[in-house]
Amino acid sequence: MILPALTEAKSPYWRPIKYSLFPPLGLATLAAYCYEGDEIDLQDEHVEELYTDDVPDIVVIQVYITNAFRAYKLADEYRAKGSYVCLGGLHVTSLPHEAKVHADTIFLGPGEECWPRFLKDYRNGCAEKMYISQERTIENIPSVRRDLIKRNLYLVPNSIVVSRGCPHHCSFCYKDAFFEGGKSFYTQRVDAALSEIDRLPGRHLYFLDDHLLGNQRFSTDLFEGMKSMNRVFQGASTIDAILRGDLIEKAAEAGMRSVFVGFETLTNGNLVQSNKRQNIGRDYEEAIKRLHSLGIMINGSFVFGLDDDGKDVFKRTVDWAVKNGLTTCTFHVLTPYPGTKLFQQMEADGRILHRNWDLYDTRNVVYQTRSLSADELKKGYDWAYESFYSWSNILKASMQHDNMKHAVKHFTYAGGWKKFEPLWNFMIKTQGLNKMLPLLESVLSKVRNGNKAGTTISPFPAIA
Ligand code: SF4
Repeated sequence: MILPALTEAKSPYWRPIKYSLFPPLGLATLAAYCYEGDEIDLQDEHVEELYTDDVPDIVVIQVYITNAFRAYKLADEYRAKGSYVCLGGLHVTSLPHEAKVHADTIFLGPGEECWPRFLKDYRNGCAEKMYISQERTIENIPSVRRDLIKRNLYLVPNSIVVSRGCPHHCSFCYKDAFFEGGKSFYTQRVDAALSEIDRLPGRHLYFLDDHLLGNQRFSTDLFEGMKSMNRVFQGASTIDAILRGDLIEKAAEAGMRSVFVGFETLTNGNLVQSNKRQNIGRDYEEAIKRLHSLGIMINGSFVFGLDDDGKDVFKRTVDWAVKNGLTTCTFHVLTPYPGTKLFQQMEADGRILHRNWDLYDTRNVVYQTRSLSADELKKGYDWAYESFYSWSNILKASMQHDNMKHAVKHFTYAGGWKKFEPLWNFMIKTQGLNKMLPLLESVLSKVRNGNKAGTTISPFPAIA
């Protein structure tokens, strides 16, 4: 089972640490369906040199858009040697006709139901060319084969997914294309999710779910069950869910210490263009205050290049993020992924410039822009990263918190993440990344300020 490196791995933007965060959980999940006695080698090219001198019976490759060409090359080589090659993942589901040329079998959609169906057919000598996900459930799935994961190669070996998909329909997102033809948001059983959490060593967890707060009932029960588990965790949510009811307080009580939020844009017209309805009319700053009052750090995601973006968008966005004390930011150049509504629209309008998937990495401009030139967009994107992560802006953003411990955590987390590349590289080289976990856990420890969400916090209360 192979996760080939995204092409960024070979680009000047390559930050080894960024690709040494999470193990390939999707493949480890599929591995759980293999039969007792099956010998499985799970390789992740982001953290290890691939061993390709073997000729296994079956080679399974997970394909994303920016590793597609690399995946096809590996697939062709293994097929030439006589292995049976299976390809699946987001890109294969979006462009099956492109992928099937390089595979014996391709998989469309999530694999939990069609992968075991394939395994049975393969053993009976009647495997098909294509399997399309039919039933959508992750209740009663076997436990992820975490024993195949080389934990010491990752900063966050305890990544976990307890749901699939998301209830929303943003036009630039893969989600609708991947889950087409069936349910597009469903969860594990709460007791199964809690048991999986319980089996993970240490305190830290990273939920890789698209929207951890997307199902009110499931998340409420999950957080209730986690309250006594003494965990610290990171996850993703929409603004909408942060502002609604008291789910975010429950998440904080259960150990949530940082959240990934798709703000995407500060312009209403852009939200409409991207069908980001869950953000329209929502008070971003209120959501931020609420998170900060709970001691939850924020990783904000922003997209540049939507049609209403003018030349001022980069500075306006960075200033806003700093003023509102966002801990980290992820910026993207708008990228129309094949299979998405955005791609269809842009293709219909003749705006797709080329199909060199290696450049569909959200760092390059691959479509005809409107209010900005491609050059302005690219330079503005680079500037935004540089500016947001300058020491002065890291300090300024840290000082936006009323609570000194939160300010220190913010400064340590953002500075540590972006400014200590040689240290990260050393830890990766010496295969000791997971030794950094206790440090991460202590940075993510609770800020005790005794304040409730929405109340004013007196400046610099006791430092816990
Ligand atoms: S909220 Fe996120 S995961 Fe859900 S559709 Fe929008 S971009 Fe995709």
